[in-house]
Amino acid sequence: MQRREFLTLAGLGAALPLLLPENAMASRSAPGRVLFTLPRSPARRIAWTVDDGASSQTVGGYVDLLERNPNLHITFFVTSAYYSWRKYGRRLRKLQQHGQVQLANHTHSHPNLTSLSNHRIRHELKSCQNFLQGEFGVTGEPFYRPPYGYFDARVRSVAAELGYSDTVMWLGTLADSGKTTSNGVLRDAKKWMTNRHIIIGHANQTAVIADFNAILATLRQRGLETVTLNQAFA
Ligand SMILES: [Zn+2]
Repeated sequence: MQRREFLTLAGLGAALPLLLPENAMASRSAPGRVLFTLPRSPARRIAWTVDDGASSQTVGGYVDLLERNPNLHITFFVTSAYYSWRKYGRRLRKLQQHGQVQLANHTHSHPNLTSLSNHRIRHELKSCQNFLQGEFGVTGEPFYRPPYGYFDARVRSVAAELGYSDTVMWLGTLADSGKTTSNGVLRDAKKWMTNRHIIIGHANQTAVIADFNAILATLRQRGLETVTLNQAFA
């Protein structure tokens, strides 16, 4: 698939000029990578990432699913204002200890970071960082995901100062940030769950829960394993 096509599909056309490669890795505070896919590997694998957490029922559904399937790995991009992450904190910590779950930064209140001052960007990322540290003992570094996928060089630079050098985008969405149906989620899962893709889903409404078994069956049929970002980029 062409990058332009993906950006259009993901509603990110406006961000295109901002995605050009830049000098990277000069220091800890220099922006690192913008990630859409996983590195090559002998294994066929995807990173299933799940954002936000507006629906605690859906976060709970994911927790149940992970507990039933010890080989399943998910990276959660936590919006720390949502209570779900506290509600399921104990069970998520256990899954985290088993390496099945990774927690990373998706800001405190989910603003468009490109519209904020440097000070406010810092505050959003720092609040979530403090939450992750207190609740899960991690900061999520170096991974953060900018809300709506909106970022620019300034956002990347402020994020990198806090240790979030890697901006995690996606190549395939379950399109469930807002209202959708189970049929829609499954269709999108089948469309996008392909070797090396970073997939984005949302814990905002419950439609995905009805598709969990069908999604796992699809992964099995395709010989795909799930990995966290830490596992993929170690
Ligand atoms: Zn989000």
